[in-house]
Amino acid sequence: MKALVFDRELYLDPHYPDPEPLPGWAMIRVDMAGICRTDLELTRGYMGFKGVPGHEFVGTVTDCDEAPWIGRRVVCEINNACGKCDWCARGLGRHCPHRSVLGILNHDGCMAEYCTAPVVNLLPVPDDIPNEKAVFIEPLSAAYEILEQVEVGRNDRCVVLGDGKLGILCAWVLTTVSDSVILVGHHATNLAVAAWDGLETTGDVQTVPQGADIVVEATGSPQGLQDAIALCRPRGTLVLKSTLAAGGALNLAPVVVNELTLIGSRCGLFARGLQGMVAHAFPVERMIAARFPLDQAVQAFAEATRPGALKILLEMA
Ligand SMILES: [Zn+2]
Ligand SMILES: [Zn+2]
Repeated sequence: MKALVFDRELYLDPHYPDPEPLPGWAMIRVDMAGICRTDLELTRGYMGFKGVPGHEFVGTVTDCDEAPWIGRRVVCEINNACGKCDWCARGLGRHCPHRSVLGILNHDGCMAEYCTAPVVNLLPVPDDIPNEKAVFIEPLSAAYEILEQVEVGRNDRCVVLGDGKLGILCAWVLTTVSDSVILVGHHATNLAVAAWDGLETTGDVQTVPQGADIVVEATGSPQGLQDAIALCRPRGTLVLKSTLAAGGALNLAPVVVNELTLIGSRCGLFARGLQGMVAHAFPVERMIAARFPLDQAVQAFAEATRPGALKILLEMA
């Protein structure tokens, strides 16, 4: 099959071996995939990754032991858990120490004509959700993870720092539970894309009143983390969404002085993301900046590295 491969460099392999589904797994024809920040990091050495990248996709099951799945349009959870350990028993397969992760850890991803996934990870996509929306279920689930971790009340003041794709999704999700959500970013186009009922946007962090109950850091920059700490009220909650945020020198004294609760937040449950998409009609497709055929995937990655770039999609067929 045709596949995008990373092995010290990124290249298109027209004759990559077809994946072989394990027992209890499904073979899926990929229809559309999204490039996310994590993919860009993988191509810079993150996780020591080698193989086919990609974990955000929508596809169609072509082969599976459980016949009813064949022909169904699906999205799928990206963590392949062992199902036997204590973490799995607690419903936290996303933290299973034995897991592989689609396109990230020991499992070829979706930037290819085909990929495989455990049947337990599959979710059927309702007919009225087009591929252009379904491809956002993975990042939307990551945004919903905040609500799994933090109790957010109607009157809680929420601030999201960072107007990248994940920041925008987090802000939209927070508007479903809080009447006060501000998104702060540096890209006028992204802030325009983010416009949504109940969401205030600003390009200037100085204009945001301090004392927020919940601050979500999604800038990916050390400065963003400092700003987040400064905006949070004493005993407030800081949700860390960027894996790179703590790269620089960091003054944690205000965290101690103000007794902040720091919460690291990563992927979420797809079922929750899908439910949210059905219930709230978030205009995710506005975030699509460009679409490329799989043949031009290397160019697509170059495009996706532009600062502030919104979603770049790969179309397989
Ligand atoms: Zn992602
Ligand atoms: Zn496990």
